Amino acid sequence: MSVVRARAAAKINLHLGVGAVREDGYHELCTVYQAVSLFDRVAAEPWSTWRVETRTEPYVDRSAVPMTNGNIVTRAGALLAELHGVEQRGDLVVDKAIPVAGGLAGGSADAAATLVVLDKLWGLRTPLDQLIELAVQLGSDVPFALLGGTGHGAGRGEIVEAVLDPGEWWWVVVPQRQGLSTPAVYRHFDDMVPDAGAPASSDKVMAALDTGDPRELARALHNDLQRPVFDLRPDLRNLITLGESEGALRGMVSGSGPTCVFLCEDELHADTVADGLRYTGHVTALIATGPAPGPVAE
Ligand code: ATP
Repeated sequence: MSVVRARAAAKINLHLGVGAVREDGYHELCTVYQAVSLFDRVAAEPWSTWRVETRTEPYVDRSAVPMTNGNIVTRAGALLAELHGVEQRGDLVVDKAIPVAGGLAGGSADAAATLVVLDKLWGLRTPLDQLIELAVQLGSDVPFALLGGTGHGAGRGEIVEAVLDPGEWWWVVVPQRQGLSTPAVYRHFDDMVPDAGAPASSDKVMAALDTGDPRELARALHNDLQRPVFDLRPDLRNLITLGESEGALRGMVSGSGPTCVFLCEDELHADTVADGLRYTGHVTALIATGPAPGPVAE
């Protein structure tokens, strides 16, 4: 076997309830993730050392992606090798379509895809629960990225349960040139909400998912980080208003931003909203549908 590949899906938080900061510095979350069809691609070949090549779509800032050593995919590979006590290394090519530091967990998706790709390349057949343990060490969003689909996240987001999501949801995704640091957004949340208690419940979103009706889901979408993100990036408030005036059912900041996502009725409607946004100068308006599957090694 020479090259093994997998797709790595971006995620949108349909619900992001943020609670008080914990003693370990993380925030208690109640979140509902949905993986969507905006994919990075990870390909791996055996190699004597770690080597990571990143290739990017024009709207993705390649300079913001760390080289081999700082890249999360190298950490993922090293953890997998360590778990099995093997000496293997790999040559990894990461094609990035997910904006960096965009609130879409692109790095987490790459890490999850790398675990499944190297597991297959090295013939390890690691059980899913062990891969999830490695994912938890790599980051709060990585366990969900391994599973894909739609999931409920508790703890710092790493305790994930699959959610039945029979709908087909259409999104317009508008990336930004300049990313936002997730820790900086959480710090700003703490400044703005010093008395945060338990995270807001996701019941409304869970009920809306059951209906399969995008208008219901549009009403239920919730992101506690949107206010601090708007405070740091006031231009995004206008973008949300613009997308909604172009007909989107609802616009929202994705996770810790700054990517904005717009829920639409169906594919045709998403096309129309994306065209409207492009016409008003937002040249990059991508269309994605969810739920999308987790990484499968091929
Ligand atoms: P999250 O919502 O999980 O914080 P995000 O979408 O805001 O994620 P990512 O694109 O996952 O942010 O990247 C966060 C940081 O991780 C980047 O600023 C970058 O320095 C670092 N990083 C390491 N490896 C990667 C990778 N393969 N792709 C993107 N970023 C990476």
